[in-house]
Amino acid sequence: MTESAEKLGGHLWYGVDVGGTKIELVACNDALQILHRQRVATPTQDYPAFLDAITSLVTNADAELGRQCDAIGIGLPGVIDRESGLGFSANIPAINGKPVAGDFRAYLQRPTCIGNDLQCFAISEANGGAAAGYPTMIGAILGTGAGGGYCVDGRVVAGFNGLGVEWGHWSVPAALVVKYGLPIHECACGLTGCIECYVSGTGLARLHRHLGGDAADAGGVIAAVQSGDDAARRALEIHLDLLGHALADVIKAFDPHAIVLGGGLSKLESIYRDLPAAIAVHLFRNTKVPPILPPLFGDAGGARGAALLARQHGA
Ligand SMILES: [Zn+2]
Repeated sequence: MTESAEKLGGHLWYGVDVGGTKIELVACNDALQILHRQRVATPTQDYPAFLDAITSLVTNADAELGRQCDAIGIGLPGVIDRESGLGFSANIPAINGKPVAGDFRAYLQRPTCIGNDLQCFAISEANGGAAAGYPTMIGAILGTGAGGGYCVDGRVVAGFNGLGVEWGHWSVPAALVVKYGLPIHECACGLTGCIECYVSGTGLARLHRHLGGDAADAGGVIAAVQSGDDAARRALEIHLDLLGHALADVIKAFDPHAIVLGGGLSKLESIYRDLPAAIAVHLFRNTKVPPILPPLFGDAGGARGAALLARQHGA
C-alpha cells in the first residue's frame, strides 16, 4: 500500500516488526498515517538472509516513497546487549551471538533504534491506542510468555539494559506457591520460578495439567471451563490470583495510570471483569486499581509501535 507523495511533508519514520514467521515494515508520517506497508517471511536460521530481508524492505520503501526515512525503529522478539550489540532471540536463532546493532547501522545507513516486541506493543497502545491520554501506562502481554513495556507521556522507558519491563521474570510469590501446592519451574530465560511460567497463556495450560487436566494451551483450558471441567475452573482461579498478585507488584513498582493487556489471554472477556478485584486483594487498603484495558491495536500494532520508537529516537 503506497499513498500519494503529498502526505510526505515533515518526517518519515519506518517501523519494522520482526516476528518468528514474518517481518513487517510500515512507513509513517508524524501523524502516524501508514503510507506504505510490506511483509516478508522471516529467515530464522540464516543471518545474512535475515539482514538482507530487512535491508530489502527498507530500500523498497525508500523507492516507493521517493526518499529515505528519518529513522528506523526495529522491534525484535529478544534482547540486544547494550554494550556488545549482540543479539539473542529464542524465536530467531539466526541472530544469536551476532552483532545485530552494528550490522543494522551498517546496512541501513540511518539512525536506528532497537526495542523489543513488548515495548512496541506498549508504545503503540500509549499513542492513539487503548491508553491514549493516560500520563503513564504499562502494556502487559500474556501470550506464550508474559512481559511488557512502560511508557511515560507516550514514550517507552526501556532502562539501563533495555529490559523495561520484564515483570514476567519476577519470582512467583512463595505464599501462593505454598497456598496452592505449586511446583517450581525452570524458566526459558535461565532463571527459576519466574511468574511467567504460571500466568502466561502457556502457564495457564501448565496449571491445568498440574491439576490433572490435559489442555495443550490457554484456549483448551477456557473450552474445558465452559464444558464444566473442575480442574480447568480451579486452574483459572489460581491463575487469576497469581496474575492479580503479579500486576499488584507492577502497580507497587510503577503505579501506572492504566494497564493494557495483550497476547492471547487479552481476548478473554472475563479477565476485565475479574482482574481488578484479584489485584486489589494484593494491594494496600485504599489503593485504587488503575483501569485494566483491552488493547486497541494488539499484536497488529507491532510495526506501528516500532515506527513510534523511531519517532521517539529521532525527534
Ligand atoms: Zn524467566
